[in-house]
Amino acid sequence: MALYKGKEYTEGNNIEQPQELSNTYTRLWGLNIPNKIRIHFWKIINESMPTLWVLKSQKLVVNTLCPVCQVEQESVAHLFRDCDFLKQVLEGIGVVSSTSNIDQNWKQRLVEEVLNNSITGFRLLAISYWALWYNRNKIYHEEIREQVHEVIGFINAYMLEIEQLSGLSRSGHIPKHIIWEPPEGDIIKFNFDASFNQ
Ligand SMILES: [Zn+2]
Repeated sequence: MALYKGKEYTEGNNIEQPQELSNTYTRLWGLNIPNKIRIHFWKIINESMPTLWVLKSQKLVVNTLCPVCQVEQESVAHLFRDCDFLKQVLEGIGVVSSTSNIDQNWKQRLVEEVLNNSITGFRLLAISYWALWYNRNKIYHEEIREQVHEVIGFINAYMLEIEQLSGLSRSGHIPKHIIWEPPEGDIIKFNFDASFNQ
C-alpha cells in the first residue's frame, strides 16, 4: 500500500467544509454497490490511485501518457475528469458532470459532485469510475481496447443487475432458508453457490 501513497496534488488539497467530506463518506458507505466499488471511489477521492503520474514520482515508470486517450499525462484528475474517453462514456450514460472550476482542488470538486447528485446519479458515477479504471487496466496491461459504446453497455448492464438484485431481496423473492431436496426419479441435480450468467 505504501507504494500508492503518492499524492498528485500536495498543495491546497484541504477540504473547505469538513462536514461535507463526512457527508460524502456517509453517502458512499450507504450506497447500494459492491464494497470493491465503494473502496475504489474512496481511493479516487483521496488520490490513492496508482496512476502513471504517481508511479513516475516513485521512479517506477518513465512514460506517463494516458493509455486511454494517449493525449495527456495520466493523473487522477485526467482519468476521472478530463480524459476524452471518460467524457464520452459519462455523456453516453447520462451522468451530469459538474461544471465547477477546473482549478478547484480535486477532493473539494468530487465532494460537491457527490453531494449535488441524486443517489442513483452517484451510484452510476461510482460504477462508471470503477468500469473506466477496469477499462484503463485492460488497455495498459492487456492491450485490449474497447469502444465507448461497449463500456457504456457494461455499465448499464451492471447497474441493471444491481437494481434487480436489490429489488429481489426487497420483495422477498429470495428465501432466507434454502433446503436441498433430492429430485424424483433418475435425475441428477446440481446445486452451486455462484453467480451464473445464462
Ligand atoms: Zn486520457
